[in-house]
Amino acid sequence: MRKRIACSINDLMRPALLNPLFAPVQSLPGVGPKTGKLFDRLLSGRHSEAMVADLLFHLPYNVIDRRVRPKIAEAEPDTVVTIEVTVAEHRPPPSLHSRAPYKVLVEDETGNMLLVFFLANHQWIERSLPVGEKRWVSGKLAVWDGYRQIVHPDKVLDETGLKRLPPVEPVYGLTDGLYQRNVQKAVEVALQRLPMLPEWLDPAFAQARNLQSFNEALALSPLPKSPGDIAADAPARMRLAFDELLASQLALAMVRAQMRRSKGRPTVGDGSSTARILSALPFTLTGSQQQTIAEVTADMASENRMLRLVQGDVGSGKTIVALLTMTAAVEAGRQAALMAPTEILARQHFERLKPLAEAAGIRLGLITGKDRVAQRRQTLAETADGTIDILIGTHALFQDDVHFKDLALAVVDEQHRFGVHQRLALGEKGMAADILVMTATPIPRTLVLSYFGDMDLSTLRDKPAGRTPIDTRAVPTDRLNDVIAGIMRAVKSGSQVYWVCPLVEESEEVDAAAAEDRYEALKQIFGDQAGLVHGRMKSKDKDAAMAKFVAGETRILVATTVIEVGVDVPAATIMVIEQAERFGLAQLHQLRGRVGRGSEKSSCLLLYKPGLGEVARARINIMRETDDGFRIAEEDLRLRGEGEVLGTRQSGTPGFKVAQLEVHGALLPAAQDDAKLILARDPDLASERGKALRILLYLFGRDEAVKLLRAG
Ligand code: ADP
Ligand code: MG
Repeated sequence: MRKRIACSINDLMRPALLNPLFAPVQSLPGVGPKTGKLFDRLLSGRHSEAMVADLLFHLPYNVIDRRVRPKIAEAEPDTVVTIEVTVAEHRPPPSLHSRAPYKVLVEDETGNMLLVFFLANHQWIERSLPVGEKRWVSGKLAVWDGYRQIVHPDKVLDETGLKRLPPVEPVYGLTDGLYQRNVQKAVEVALQRLPMLPEWLDPAFAQARNLQSFNEALALSPLPKSPGDIAADAPARMRLAFDELLASQLALAMVRAQMRRSKGRPTVGDGSSTARILSALPFTLTGSQQQTIAEVTADMASENRMLRLVQGDVGSGKTIVALLTMTAAVEAGRQAALMAPTEILARQHFERLKPLAEAAGIRLGLITGKDRVAQRRQTLAETADGTIDILIGTHALFQDDVHFKDLALAVVDEQHRFGVHQRLALGEKGMAADILVMTATPIPRTLVLSYFGDMDLSTLRDKPAGRTPIDTRAVPTDRLNDVIAGIMRAVKSGSQVYWVCPLVEESEEVDAAAAEDRYEALKQIFGDQAGLVHGRMKSKDKDAAMAKFVAGETRILVATTVIEVGVDVPAATIMVIEQAERFGLAQLHQLRGRVGRGSEKSSCLLLYKPGLGEVARARINIMRETDDGFRIAEEDLRLRGEGEVLGTRQSGTPGFKVAQLEVHGALLPAAQDDAKLILARDPDLASERGKALRILLYLFGRDEAVKLLRAG
């Protein structure tokens, strides 16, 4: 057996130096069990414990600058100001039980203003704001009735207090019950425990790029000293972002290096079966399809092990590319496997490809988690003895008891549902099988590099000819009845309709309930012509529901996002998406891609609740403007960046803690080059620098699987 590589990402033992950073936030002094739970929820989702490192990477998205010290008359309304004033007069409410606020008039040489306290603690006000004394008050200045005031100043300070006032205060994303001061205090304590970490960057490189040390950068980022420090391109953030990109590129390069160490076997088909399949196809391949197939078969023919990503928009025809490349493996007397993310898709692939495969004398097998014992035994036996040429399945494909006689090629469809490890596990089933990953989520170039490293890439840019563009409309929910009336007409004249209910909660049960309610309502109108499919149904029932829709027995299919990926019913021409504002752009695009597959004119109705936020409106507009998945992916990235500007988001691009590719993408090529160079010189990360780099991998969670993009 081949020796496992010494630095397999999983096997690195976490250096003890990092222990303080991988201690639970709850272990910090001053963080009790209750606050600790809130930190868990804020930083790592409900079910796992937040670590100190998570806390330190929870960067503030804004700061309050207490150094803005205008005179009263010059203070800008709606900004936070800190003003030196003399207390002029107290105006308590008429009686103790009055609901009127307690007001205090303060002044300077330019004018006066009111401090306003609702439900005030009178004693505190009297103590803190004695008439005739000088005080510094800080808070958001408002103009009300033409008069300047600060309602509930954040700070009321005397000279001593002022000296202790931090000039700049971070503002963190929070969760219910957690306050800014909780986070800030925890961060302060955590920073005191920050171990001195060794430098993992090449000193000359860091100097040339003006990068400070990681320790300096990490000290400054969660506790900014000036407003400029929270900018995504501030030096400290650049350093952290570069480190994170380097960690991810290094992890990817390590996986890649591991694959390269196992040499591939050349697989060359003779073209005989391919020709038969091509002549059985009712269409000719697009230029992109031909080119992609050529690229893949060239990889397969070479000695090197293939790791290639095929990127193709929804409906660009990836399935046939998979079949024809697998056919090349079969022509060479070997086997291929096709892995789909769901059972529905695995079955669909099997059903679709079967007639084509049969035309070429190729035997297909299907394996899912739900097969009967006898059936499964037979499939396993036929896979092991080579009777089955192409095995299609779900993740069940890479269970331990699945053995191939001679697996040449593993195709992973719609890969964003899988992690890198699963991909590789499948590859290990064959003697150095070639791996082809197909993604239906077009990804901007910068993202491809960051998620997949230097994986080879083929792109299906042109779509099959003869498709008419999908008429996309945004419709407010209060016009639901019109929509239903329109659909009734369409169904009467023979159309089929998808009706998608959104992911309302993180819970499949709740989503299923929403879909069931909608189904019940539509059944009142459409009777047996309405069908339902959602993730909580038994797969038998799901398949039955899908099958009825495919056969045209049901005309309107109510669904959750289970139909998002891959399902192909050319006769369906109308897509209704409820609460479209809840979906991400990529997801809307995927869903819309379920229609417009035949030559009939198709339409997509985006139902939304009136009162859309800016980003939601922008998303819906983009959907109406274009159906080019690549452009949509770019816009998605841009809008994520916009979310940042609007202060709604402070974390990095999905899968990243700090790095925001719309800002830091320019650092990627350097990170990638550096990762390559590092592994070329020190493949086991054994040198001093290598050891420091291991620390880097742990810091950014790249010791585990590389987190992959998920739709939406
Ligand atoms: P996806 O890339 O989303 O997986 P599919 O492989 O499901 O797309 O293909 C979508 C539809 O387009 C299928 O019905 C398929 O038969 C059809 N198709 C694929 N390639 C072509 C082509 N070159 N010309 C016409 N139709 C095609
Ligand atoms: Mg597909």
